[in-house]
Amino acid sequence: MRHVIALDVGGTGMKAALAGASGDLLHQARRPTGRERGPDAVVEGILDFAAELRAYGEQRFGEPAAAVGVAVPGIVDEARGIAAYAANLGWRDVPLRQLLAQRLGGAPVALGHDVRTGGLAEGRIGAGKGADRFLFVPLGTGIAGAIGIDGRVEAGAHGFAGEIGHIVVRPGGAPCPCGQRGCLERFASAAAVSEAWAAACGDPEADAADCAKAVASGDPNAVRVWQEAVDALADGLVTALTLLDPRILIIGGGLAEAGETLFTPLRDAVRRRVTFQRLPSIVPAALGDTAGCLGAGLLAWDLLDHTDRTEVTR
Ligand SMILES: [Zn+2]
Repeated sequence: MRHVIALDVGGTGMKAALAGASGDLLHQARRPTGRERGPDAVVEGILDFAAELRAYGEQRFGEPAAAVGVAVPGIVDEARGIAAYAANLGWRDVPLRQLLAQRLGGAPVALGHDVRTGGLAEGRIGAGKGADRFLFVPLGTGIAGAIGIDGRVEAGAHGFAGEIGHIVVRPGGAPCPCGQRGCLERFASAAAVSEAWAAACGDPEADAADCAKAVASGDPNAVRVWQEAVDALADGLVTALTLLDPRILIIGGGLAEAGETLFTPLRDAVRRRVTFQRLPSIVPAALGDTAGCLGAGLLAWDLLDHTDRTEVTR
């Protein structure tokens, strides 16, 4: 049976799958990324994992995977197949596409940026299914974005498109590791809300999920912290939707797990800010932490569809 390898490389763990033509996951596996062993060992671990998946697929389905899709964090040169930089994995300019193709007997390989790859899956088969224009914004340790246009995700000229977390929403505000001050992710990431709530409630262990619970129970201190994050987020999202005019705004990551505690005030805050802009529907992400893996599978299938089309037109 024809299938592809999908691999999502995270800072701590790798998720892999063999995916069928309809995007269904035929087999799933996980293992640690092992970043404590250094960047070379991480790359070797990715190659080993992919080779084992290829052997497994060949044994179980009677043929090796037809293509491979890999999602990695950091700065990714998708066109050249190079993992350019990842602070958490310590690598620089790893020619991952070439290394994987060599290891896997010349199979076609697609390399993608983790958030854009997850966004591709959310837009095509998840919360934005069928939407021609969407914006996917995961609120995690940081905030990133994936701009969906007609079934693909825009990477930009240099691979930096969608970095909504570094839109300045509070000029002169808290310093950001990017070098700017007042960036959105300093106010509305899960990490920022955790930090603000820990300071406000006096418990250094308290996090964003605790804050959401306190909001739901009506704690005025929590409501104040939460609303500050929601207002900053709405400011950033309105800038994005003014520029992009998406049909649907998909919010994911840890903070979105608060459900209506986030979405009800967020929809209100965005609605209050728009004037002439059309209001997109604002919905939670649907695929959870499998989005990256599902997206990597889609990248691999796209490669085959493209190859097939090229062969036909040749
Ligand atoms: Zn920043």
